[in-house]
Amino acid sequence: MKLLNKRAVVTGGTRGIGKAIVKELAENGCSVVFTYFSSDESARQLENEFSNYNVKIFGFKADASSFSAAEETIKFAIEKLGGVDILVNNAGITKDNLMLRMTEQDFDHVINANLKSVFNYTKAVLKTFLSQRYGKIVNISSVVGLIGNAGQSNYVASKAGVIGLTKSNAKELASRNVNVNCVAPGLIETDMTGKLNEHQRGTILSNVPLRRFGKPEDVSKAVLFLCSSDADYITGQVLTVDGGMVM
Ligand code: NAP
Repeated sequence: MKLLNKRAVVTGGTRGIGKAIVKELAENGCSVVFTYFSSDESARQLENEFSNYNVKIFGFKADASSFSAAEETIKFAIEKLGGVDILVNNAGITKDNLMLRMTEQDFDHVINANLKSVFNYTKAVLKTFLSQRYGKIVNISSVVGLIGNAGQSNYVASKAGVIGLTKSNAKELASRNVNVNCVAPGLIETDMTGKLNEHQRGTILSNVPLRRFGKPEDVSKAVLFLCSSDADYITGQVLTVDGGMVM
């Protein structure tokens, strides 16, 4: 129980990595408000899964690209949980294409969902964290934000931006006891990567020294560590969870 009686907001909690993070935090004694974009049914299922745990779990439909929706989420979390101690910015999408074919709309869409969302939620929760002089923020980036990737200029720009935002916020907020870190996953088995064909998967796997794709739980355990007091002296860092792909 590394997070007993803590309260968290997790964006994009209905599927994949976000769902594993919600479970990991809840199993460690943390109450959670998780957001989602459209999956109402999955949200209700996830709430029910934890009805027997000694924690509160609420889903909240909110487009992470919208600042007003982020403010509403934090207000909802404070009403339902009595406060917020942890923010995990996980919501993200891909709209892959070669630069020549990428539309302005797809560029903006991905930047807004993946990068502006981190600004939105961080800003919305900040007054709470500053006044209580405590907060843990974990942003989910990607290893491609460190090394680039052909065909993903919008996604890579958003994930590199998340790293820059993390480091700047870490420097700005450290004096108020707010830790800001990043987790950068490699290829993790979720709906997002289910779109890759066998050739693409084989190419990626040949670059993974541990010779397997990651599971959502590989990422959620790293997030748990960074949210816990075990990581009190860690801020502004990027923790890669990628089987050794980038070192
Ligand atoms: P996923 O399976 O596609 O799930 C995405 C989650 O984000 C869903 O809960 C979805 O809600 C939510 N979401 C999407 N857009 C949203 C928006 N505008 N507002 C609120 N919620 C939104 O994705 P994943 O693979 O778990 O990825 C999670 C994070 O890890 C992303 O930031 C991704 O970039 C990053 N990541 C993933 C991998 C990987 O290999 N999978 C690698 C590196 C980084 P709905 O269910 O309602 O659509």
